[in-house]
Amino acid sequence: MKTPAFEYHAPRTIDEALALLADYADDAKVLAGGQSLVPLLAMRLARPAQLVDINEIDDLGGIHPINGTGVALGALTRERTAEHSPLVAERAPVLAEALPYIGHVSIRNRGTIGGSIAHADASAELPAVAVVTGAEMVVRSARAERVIPADDFFVGHFTTSMADDELLTEIRIPSGPDGAGWAFQEVARRHGDFALVGVATMVTITDGHVGEARIAMMGVADRAVRASEAEASLVGQPVDAATIDAASHVAIRGLEPASDIHGSAEFRRHLAGVATRRALTAAVERAGGAQ
Ligand SMILES: Cc1cc2nc3c(=O)[nH]c(=O)nc-3n(C[C@H](O)[C@H](O)[C@H](O)COP(=O)(O)OP(=O)(O)OC[C@H]3O[C@@H](n4cnc5c(N)ncnc54)[C@H](O)[C@@H]3O)c2cc1C
Repeated sequence: MKTPAFEYHAPRTIDEALALLADYADDAKVLAGGQSLVPLLAMRLARPAQLVDINEIDDLGGIHPINGTGVALGALTRERTAEHSPLVAERAPVLAEALPYIGHVSIRNRGTIGGSIAHADASAELPAVAVVTGAEMVVRSARAERVIPADDFFVGHFTTSMADDELLTEIRIPSGPDGAGWAFQEVARRHGDFALVGVATMVTITDGHVGEARIAMMGVADRAVRASEAEASLVGQPVDAATIDAASHVAIRGLEPASDIHGSAEFRRHLAGVATRRALTAAVERAGGAQ
């Protein structure tokens, strides 16, 4: 299928891109890897009059260390590049673990970290990773630069707190507490499909008890969400299977995922509990608290 007609722009600098977005605002769309946007254009679900292709902007690439132990990824970093980055593996292991679940290699060769975050699909891996790690999104417009915490960035289905004239330029991921164990688990009908549900976790252990815990879930609401009650229920508890089981039940309490042809709400809720238990178990093991 052919896309609707649009005017094409290929700025070579961030400032040029921001000037175009300032001029055209809600008439324009940013084109990154095109793995979500091009199908939307072809299906006529998006009809921007102006397309701002950011692929020629060198300053939007690159992965570099920040704040001692964290990592920053330029928005145009390809998902596949991040997947193979030793710095990502060392400093954002939960991102490294989640990336291979995204589609297939050919999609990750083109798809970008910033594109996935900006697209804000509630069933996508990277928003859940951003939420569990407490990532910060650096967003620029011709007016100003803003740094938006993940909890404030994702607003709803395919909706973020970015304005039409803003460009996501960088994603900053802090490494989290010393000794933390991280894990990502998802359930999909086939490898490469969008997940039915997924869970990203972080656990620290102090004297055989849970110190800190973070749980972010995808595919269960209109955006990636923290399971705050389950997190709180873990803190101070002995590190054992009963604790993890109990937290997995708390995590799915009150969830109201969608029903569709891929699975009912009840099935998704059940899977969310299973994925939470698996992810917590792996995170605990990696934090040194073998089950
Ligand atoms: C067959 C198939 C299977 C897939 N499976 C999965 C999957 O399992 N999990 C998953 O998460 N994704 C999946 N994807 C989508 C893939 O991860 C995309 O790469 C990603 O969602 C969008 O990244 P992109 O760089 O291609 O962005 P694009 O498609 O170019 O853009 C997506 C949206 O983000 C906006 N945007 C992009 N970059 C910026 C920026 N820097 N600043 C502001 N706005 C920006 C665009 O304007 C557009 O609205 C799949 C895609 C396909 C085709």
